[in-house]
Amino acid sequence: MPAKIISGTQIAGQIREDLQKEIAGLKEKHGVIPGLATILVGDDPASGIYVGQKEKSCRNLGIYSKRVDLPAETSEKDLLSIIDKLNKDPQIHGVLVQLPLPEHIDEYSVICAIDPDKDVDGFHPVNVGKMMLGKRCFIPCTPHGILELLLRSNIQTEGAEVVIVGRSNIVGKPILNLMLQKRPGGNATVTICHTRTKNLEFHTKRADILIAAIGRPKTISGDMVKEGVVVIDVGVNRVGKTPEGKSILSGDVDFDSVKEKAAAITPVPGGVGPMTIVMLMKNTVEAAFLNRGRKSEVREQ
Ligand code: NAP
Repeated sequence: MPAKIISGTQIAGQIREDLQKEIAGLKEKHGVIPGLATILVGDDPASGIYVGQKEKSCRNLGIYSKRVDLPAETSEKDLLSIIDKLNKDPQIHGVLVQLPLPEHIDEYSVICAIDPDKDVDGFHPVNVGKMMLGKRCFIPCTPHGILELLLRSNIQTEGAEVVIVGRSNIVGKPILNLMLQKRPGGNATVTICHTRTKNLEFHTKRADILIAAIGRPKTISGDMVKEGVVVIDVGVNRVGKTPEGKSILSGDVDFDSVKEKAAAITPVPGGVGPMTIVMLMKNTVEAAFLNRGRKSEVREQ
């Protein structure tokens, strides 16, 4: 039977509704409007689109959005000084630097310069360490979104064989950590695969839940999965253009062959992508609570 489609667009809509109430409450009770600063260095078109989507999402929710566009030749010192100002700006609760950065700027130094309490991307080593320990922190938006997709679709993770393909710091490794935690959405037995994995298919065929974060179109085909698997396709690959000049997107999963065997699957677009953006909004609202000193309002991890 063809798979159930897990709609990230729909689930993100539900989360946005909840956020609207939280934002209204923050404003009414505390006079606080959550604020997000996004910094874009250079003119990479894909990064420009991502920053634009984040700004639009802020506008739609009533979150104050400050966009800082910097030329590609900006020095690391100047970028660090801008981050320092934003760290101290009381109107800004979340600071996000769009990655990748130009080669002359050290990404790690930049991530470390963001105040961990404003690190709504969840990439600062303090947040990464806390996440691993299962403590309260900002969780990176894409893995956080994947977890919400599973939870809100009532997918049982406890005792499930989860196989992740891809070990990046922003997707593969954090989702591995989250699904190991002793809490809802966790308690799974997790395997992580990468380019040095000897027999990828051996692992993908064992998966009750398969998460593909590879960055190569249609790497996972129907003959690599078992009947009844739940598939989360993180991949966003631009594989061509429509006659109108719009990008044609493909996931890391061959949707047509995998959907015939899967119990449930996320589409691309409309799966993980909208969840990533809404989780950024959620982290920004949590940062606004946190920076009000109302730590009890911030979700316990
Ligand atoms: P990345 O940093 O390039 O990591 C890709 C991972 O896949 C690496 O660990 C790599 O292994 C592994 N890999 C590549 N080819 C493989 C193969 N043939 N077999 C097994 N493993 C393979 O990518 P990323 O940043 O995690 O992103 C992954 C994809 O998700 C991209 O398409 C990206 O655009 C997308 N993405 C989407 C969202 C969203 O919101 N929807 C957010 C983030 C990323 P090695 O480590 O051995 O090289």
